[in-house]
Amino acid sequence: MIYASNPFFIWDFMREFVKPRVVVSKCLEFDHCRYNGDMIRSTIVAKLKEYVDFLPVCAEVEIGLGVPRKPVRIVLDEGEHRLVQPASGRDVTEDMKTFCTRFLDSVGNVDGFILKFRSPSCGIKDVKVYPSSTKSGAVEKTSGYFGGEVLKKYPSLPIEDEGRLRNARIKEHFLTKLFTFAAFRKVKSEGSMKDLVKFHTENKYLFMAYNQTELRKMGAIVANKENKPFKELISEYEIYLYSTFSRPARYTSSINVLTHALGHFSDQLSNREKDLFFDWIKKYREGKTSLCPAINTIRSWIVRFEDKYLLNQTFFEPYPEGLLEVDPVESHLRDDLWK
Ligand code: SF4
Repeated sequence: MIYASNPFFIWDFMREFVKPRVVVSKCLEFDHCRYNGDMIRSTIVAKLKEYVDFLPVCAEVEIGLGVPRKPVRIVLDEGEHRLVQPASGRDVTEDMKTFCTRFLDSVGNVDGFILKFRSPSCGIKDVKVYPSSTKSGAVEKTSGYFGGEVLKKYPSLPIEDEGRLRNARIKEHFLTKLFTFAAFRKVKSEGSMKDLVKFHTENKYLFMAYNQTELRKMGAIVANKENKPFKELISEYEIYLYSTFSRPARYTSSINVLTHALGHFSDQLSNREKDLFFDWIKKYREGKTSLCPAINTIRSWIVRFEDKYLLNQTFFEPYPEGLLEVDPVESHLRDDLWK
C-alpha cells in the first residue's frame, strides 16, 4: 500500500457530501403499508438511510385506502386511464390526482426519487393497464399515477425505481447525479460566485466524463465575461448541468478521463506501474472487471504525489465511499440500458 509523505494530506481525501433530500415510496424499507400489509426490502434504500434525508410517502394510504386494502389497478375506460379498486368498485382517480398535486406542491426542495417498481400508484414505467376491472391480461404499459406526475414535474432529477436500481450501472449513474445535484442545490440556495467557481472546478473531470460539450458551455458561463448577476448565471448554469447528466457517462469517456489524469504524473512512474494501470483498463474494456481498480490505482498516485487538483476532483469519489459495492461486471459496458 502507498502512503503520502505528508500525513495530513491523506485526511483531505475525506470529501464532505451535502445530504440529498429524496422522496421514497414508504413501503420500501419504511413501513408495512402495501395492500397486504407487507414492506419491501431494498438494499439500496436501506444503505442510503445513512447518507440521505428520506421523505417517505405512501400515495394509497394518503388517499385513505387504509392497510390492509384491496389492490388497485389502472384500467382503460373509453380510451382514458382510470385508477380503480375492482373489489369495491371505487374509482379513486380524482383522489389520487388531488393528492399528487398537493404533495408535490408542498414537498419543497428535493434532489431525487426512489419509487416502487411497477406499482399503479408509484411506478415510473412498465405499469400494467388492464382492459377493465375484471379482465386480466394487460393491454398496454404506462407509469403509475404518482410516478407519472413526478416524472412530469421533475424531468431532470434522478428518478428511479428500486427494481432498476439493482443494476450496478443504473445505480452508479443515479447516485452520481443525486449527490452532484444536492451539492449544486446548496451552491444555488446559499452560494455566491466563488462557490459556483469551486463547484465547477471540482466537478470538471466528472463533467468531462459525462459530456464535454456541456462542460465547455458551463465553463463559459462561469467565466462570466458579461458580468451577469449570480442569480441569472446560476439559472443558466443549471440548464447545462441538467443536460450534462441527462445520459450516463459513456465508458470510453471515463477511460479518457483516467488517461488524462495519468498525464499528471506519468513521467514520475515506472513503465511497470503504467503497464499495471493500462492492464486494468484493458480488463475493463473486455468486461472482466469494473472501473474501480483503474480508479483506485490513480487515487493511490494522487495521494503519493500529493496532487491537490486531482484530489479535489469529484470524479474520483462522486458519492460516499460507503455506498460502493463490488459491482457485477456484466452491466458496466452496456450503453443500451436507457433506451
Ligand atoms: S407502491 Fe406506493 S402506494 Fe403502493 S404501498 Fe408502496 S408506497 Fe404505497
